[in-house]
Amino acid sequence: MSLKNSPACVEFRGSPDGLKRQRLFTPGPTPIPERVQTAMAGTPVYHRGPEFPALLRNAVQGLQEVYPTSCDVFLLSCSGTGAMEAAVANTLCAGDRALVVQAGQFGARWTDLCRAYGVEVVERAFPWGEAVDPQVVAEALRDDPGLRAVFATHSETSTGVLHDIAAIGETVRETDALFVVDSVSSVAAHPLPLEAWNVDLAVTASQKGLMLPPGIGIAAVGPRVWKAYGRSRLPKYYWDLEGYRRSMAEGRAPATLPVTLLAGLRVALQMLREEGIPRVWERHARHARAVRRSAAALGLTCFARRPSNALTAILLPESVDGLALMETMRRECGVVVGGGLGDYRGRMVRISNLGHVDDAGILEAVGAFEAGLRRTGWEFEAGVGVRTAQHVLTADC
Ligand SMILES: *Cc1c(COP(=O)(O)O)cnc(C)c1O
Repeated sequence: MSLKNSPACVEFRGSPDGLKRQRLFTPGPTPIPERVQTAMAGTPVYHRGPEFPALLRNAVQGLQEVYPTSCDVFLLSCSGTGAMEAAVANTLCAGDRALVVQAGQFGARWTDLCRAYGVEVVERAFPWGEAVDPQVVAEALRDDPGLRAVFATHSETSTGVLHDIAAIGETVRETDALFVVDSVSSVAAHPLPLEAWNVDLAVTASQKGLMLPPGIGIAAVGPRVWKAYGRSRLPKYYWDLEGYRRSMAEGRAPATLPVTLLAGLRVALQMLREEGIPRVWERHARHARAVRRSAAALGLTCFARRPSNALTAILLPESVDGLALMETMRRECGVVVGGGLGDYRGRMVRISNLGHVDDAGILEAVGAFEAGLRRTGWEFEAGVGVRTAQHVLTADC
């Protein structure tokens, strides 16, 4: 019997039940390191007990290093959207005008959120896949000196684009507007030096680059926010950051924080420190480059004009059914990737390298993508995707 027809070979193509594991290459939630899982398996810390203040302070310091910033950092019990809501509720009044610059699903969330609170939105929307043009931001600010705030997205997870926050921050600097940035999927993948880039408020969440389950929303808050807070009349209670400022000064929070996740965060931050935060950024750059080059070698187009290092959005050819491709990858290789959002459902895959991903993981994701793609009938030289990834991964070391 030839090897090709042997049962072992057939088994290998499918996933034998006993070996079923799923690996996440999704831009949130992301894989959780074993060390972090172990830390979370322990007895929860009492949030009014004596160990809690040190746990909280450690988290704040670690997050300050990861951004980097020396701003206040608040931890909230919510996903990323909750922290976005806190950013709006604490800085504006109903009827205020705010500029939202966006080019994707998460950017558009700022518009919806502001409108839900009665804030008048001036929107500059760019086509999906493109980056916000800082010049357009400058013009919008010049046209309307009454704008109270500018809302932007650092890494747009729906398109894989990295927006130029430094350049946008430069234009906002010349005005009195606050600059608020969604950095949910950029933290740990890219530096976001808040002070240098004139960012007043940035938000993120635990289930992305921080390698934790969902449940902690994070807001880094600069000094100018407190002035805006003083005049803000939007209703808030759970999201009231002044309450957080007061209790966090004593190492407490105004409501119960997810203490289990905090135990995990302590270890996740420790892991980032051990690797070295600049090295973590470099790893994300190298991994994202490997995925991008592989996609090109497979004859496919990377969607983002200005790609983020958190994930790669790959546009699929007309002939390829993206949902079927993802299902093959999941079922046969145990590899889970993000799909296209909105109009791109079924037409795109988003392969994430955000968080706890190593070189072997990248080869696994690219290998599964290649295997799935072959099934769709798309033609390419066998093995070229993985070979290209391997080449990029070994080139720099
Ligand atoms: C994941 C994500 C969010 C927040 O999503 P939640 O589901 O509320 O955590 C916001 N913005 C971006 C860019 C994201 O990637």
